[in-house]
Amino acid sequence: MAIHADNIVVETSETSKINNVDFSNLDFGRVFTDHMFVCDYENGAWQTPKIMPYQSLTFEPSARVFHYGQAVFEGMKAYKDDDGKIFLFRPKQNFDRINKSAARLAMPEFPEDYFFNGLETLLKLDNEWIKSGVGNSLYLRPFVIATEPAISASPANSYKFIIICSPAKSYYNSAVRVLIAEQFSRSADGGVGYAKAAGNYAAQFYPTSLAQAQGFQQIIWTDANTHKYLEEAGTMNVFFRINDKLITAPNNDRILDGVTRKSVIQLASDLGIDCEVRQITVEEIKTAAREGSLKEVFGVGTAAVISPVSAFQHQDELFEIKDVEDSYGKLFKQTLLNIQHNVTEDVHGWRHEVK
Ligand SMILES: *Cc1c(COP(=O)(O)O)cnc(C)c1O
Repeated sequence: MAIHADNIVVETSETSKINNVDFSNLDFGRVFTDHMFVCDYENGAWQTPKIMPYQSLTFEPSARVFHYGQAVFEGMKAYKDDDGKIFLFRPKQNFDRINKSAARLAMPEFPEDYFFNGLETLLKLDNEWIKSGVGNSLYLRPFVIATEPAISASPANSYKFIIICSPAKSYYNSAVRVLIAEQFSRSADGGVGYAKAAGNYAAQFYPTSLAQAQGFQQIIWTDANTHKYLEEAGTMNVFFRINDKLITAPNNDRILDGVTRKSVIQLASDLGIDCEVRQITVEEIKTAAREGSLKEVFGVGTAAVISPVSAFQHQDELFEIKDVEDSYGKLFKQTLLNIQHNVTEDVHGWRHEVK
């Protein structure tokens, strides 16, 4: 069946997979909803967007994404309140960011109305896949890939913009042990660190696997030039709490401008928690850990919201971070979840209802 809705061609799935899914036992990112959004870029323009049943796509082996990694993505979530209303959280931030990422990889920008119409139509169609209950969500993965079948090393002339959706369960994220990077770097000055480029992740897997072999789950990335300044934790932005003060690194072209990070900075201000946005050195954190003033370290990002760090190692020194009673990390997590699920007031207008 093909129907037209707001300039989107919608082909609905005859059957649904939803009854085969155990929503109480979801492995992150393995199950996908019944539909997906696809839009092709051809002849210098984005073509009519489509929603179709989730399915395999075929590409020529020469498609440029396979050779040169011209690929960017986003990570966002849809939430449902107890009345069945659907919300996105600051989605304009993700829209702006995917275009910023695309521009850095010489890819065409995607139109705002296609993005929002496509996403909202898709969510209404796969509405049943969004479960209410604080912590449950539908993880949304918009991405763009270069599809032109030609292996000359230059930007492609054809692309696909796709959105796929995967139900995610609220989970208790146990604390991670992290290794501070001394040799490898996630990003460098003038590079693509600020873009959500697929290749940034590929480049992280090997150093992270070395850290995992040493008993750490993640790496805290430091600046590529000196390895003295703390930048990000794994694929999350990172906050340090010394006594009652929070510190996070300023954005630059090596750091991903996270929506969760900027929301936490705002919430800290709302809650009267002092938060400094400045460069922070490995030495400062080690000194604070030795003196007992380092109370918390946590990563922040859409997927896990807040991920506490229980220990870090630098060179051959290991530092344990004990649990604190008045955890800022837990407070921010609960506050964010309550806003996202329409449980509390939304003073900053961060919720975006899908009507
Ligand atoms: C996506 C991402 C983040 C977190 O961004 P959010 O908008 O908060 O989800 C942080 N660091 C890196 C490297 C990322 O790719």
